[in-house]
Amino acid sequence: MKSKVFLARVDEGDPPELIREKFALLVRESRALDFVKEDERVALKLHFGEEANTGYVKPEYVRVAVDELLRKKTRPFLSDTNTLYRGRRMTAPEHQKLAAEHGFTQGACAAQVIIPDDTQKENIREIEVNGKFIKAAKVARLFADADGLVDIAHFKGHIMTGFGGALKNVGMGCASREGKLAQHSDISPFVIEQNCKGCSVCIEACPVDAITLIREKASIDNARCIGCATCIAVCPYMAIEVNWEAGGDKIQEKMVEYASAILLPKKNKCAFFNFLIKITKECDCLAKDDPRIAPDIGILASSDPVSIDKASLDLVTRACGKDVFLEAHPARDGLKQLAYAAKLGLGSMEYELVEV
Ligand code: SF4
Ligand code: SF4
Repeated sequence: MKSKVFLARVDEGDPPELIREKFALLVRESRALDFVKEDERVALKLHFGEEANTGYVKPEYVRVAVDELLRKKTRPFLSDTNTLYRGRRMTAPEHQKLAAEHGFTQGACAAQVIIPDDTQKENIREIEVNGKFIKAAKVARLFADADGLVDIAHFKGHIMTGFGGALKNVGMGCASREGKLAQHSDISPFVIEQNCKGCSVCIEACPVDAITLIREKASIDNARCIGCATCIAVCPYMAIEVNWEAGGDKIQEKMVEYASAILLPKKNKCAFFNFLIKITKECDCLAKDDPRIAPDIGILASSDPVSIDKASLDLVTRACGKDVFLEAHPARDGLKQLAYAAKLGLGSMEYELVEV
């Protein structure tokens, strides 16, 4: 069955105030937020952007969705999880600080910004998936427990998944650090010996005693390691790393299985918005002002995460006359994530585009 995807076109050089108006029109006409009920707690899943990044969806646009949710008398909050890679979004306090520097404050957005501390077990929930790769997904509890989810994604290229949109923002974005490691790699993290100072911080933090000091350097016992990723976060000398390529292209399907853990229990309780503005080759985790690889197209809305990502890909491909994401990342055909998501019942590759 075809799902409806609504599009508000944005022209190159549109000022932020006009983009806000177009987004407000899209929210109204698509009725994407009509699923919420009074007093429900609604999570807005965002990406607050790495330091110096400029591609993330700006707080003044997010405010449009928050205002509508407040009009509907719900209790919205903004959130994202901490990263696996090293950067300012790796720990909750620094992540929260960076979000505020990018303008995501209660004052500007009219909603609380909550970054859960995933070193605390009570902030993580395990959801049974029984997928091809993932048996139990480890996700941030606040997304799983929310009554509704509003997924606001910047549609752009991605080195691991070809492109990233609605599905990636949920699948990878709602996962705990341990969940992110499970998606990225099949093996334990490893120690970069020249960086290791033998301080033992990782040894004290490892929950299963998988790390020992050998000749003053940390050493991870792969047979014991449960892939919790704690050591990566606590090492003060950046001496523990992930083998990012070890998972190969399975990452797309793992990511979709993670998305299913959040989305399937919330059928009819989600809305998806993709911003096709400043479409870049790489994702917003990059600490730089990545250049555009496609013209600005607009903002999309749908209740179907597969349809909205497929429509986003088709619009970019049409505007550029070629698949710019496949050209940028030839080893990662992003269509794979969409086909697998459709197979798992997350949505449809068929859609009807409605311009507002
Ligand atoms: S915390 Fe880092 S520097 Fe300290 S022992 Fe572990 S790997 Fe080495
Ligand atoms: S990933 Fe977790 S279990 Fe594995 S070595 Fe690091 S802290 Fe220990």
